[in-house]
Amino acid sequence: MNEKERADLKHELRTRLEFYRDLGVEFLVSPRKTSGKDGAATAENQLLIASGFSGAGGEITPDGEEWERLIRKIMGCQACPLFKGRTQAVPGEGNRQARLMFVGEAPGRDEDLQGRPFVGRAGQLLTRIIQAMGFSREEVYIANVIKCRPPENRTPRPDEVKACSPYLLRQIDLIRPKVIVALGKVATDFLLQSPKSMSELRGNFGEFQGIPVMPTFHPSYLVRNEGNKEIKKMVWEDMKKVLELLKS
Ligand code: SF4
Repeated sequence: MNEKERADLKHELRTRLEFYRDLGVEFLVSPRKTSGKDGAATAENQLLIASGFSGAGGEITPDGEEWERLIRKIMGCQACPLFKGRTQAVPGEGNRQARLMFVGEAPGRDEDLQGRPFVGRAGQLLTRIIQAMGFSREEVYIANVIKCRPPENRTPRPDEVKACSPYLLRQIDLIRPKVIVALGKVATDFLLQSPKSMSELRGNFGEFQGIPVMPTFHPSYLVRNEGNKEIKKMVWEDMKKVLELLKS
């Protein structure tokens, strides 16, 4: 490792620890070593996971074939006008047998370019939160309600949510996670269908088709309010409840 790589690593470590301190994280769980059947993070299938084409473990199962059909359908979808402005659709990625699933709003610029969910600044925050919970990104499943980037990252319209939501519904149905974390208002409104505001809903479990749903703030809200430690702490409180439920 050269001087610059060492400095970059040190900077990354410091930023991460500061973020955990702001969250109010009292402990850090070592990322588990996962391989093959357990968690699907072997070097070989990392690529498959990143491309969104693997089952847990990367094997082709009947579900795996169904996943492939679903992903192909999303990639070629023209069911709403958002297809016109996309570089590519962003189906989602991760462990298809995950116990924990994160659902956000829609891809932004970085996600649209890379074809992966939550890879921009907000995505980096989400990755840190996932790691603080003791997981790697490959162990959970990450998706959005909307699979194509809305122009200028505007909030998706109800007709777009209606057109796109069957894909998310199928993903949830195939994964059947133990808990879903709804990131922000669009995901929360879709999953909980509640007239209540985000601040009223966050921090309390709701339910979607029998699966507990924890609504919390979207990581981009954390980015916009970077100096506000209270918001970070609230998100971490929500994640602690999710961890408790996963343990039970
Ligand atoms: S946003 Fe969803 S419904 Fe609209 S074109 Fe993309 S994949 Fe199809």
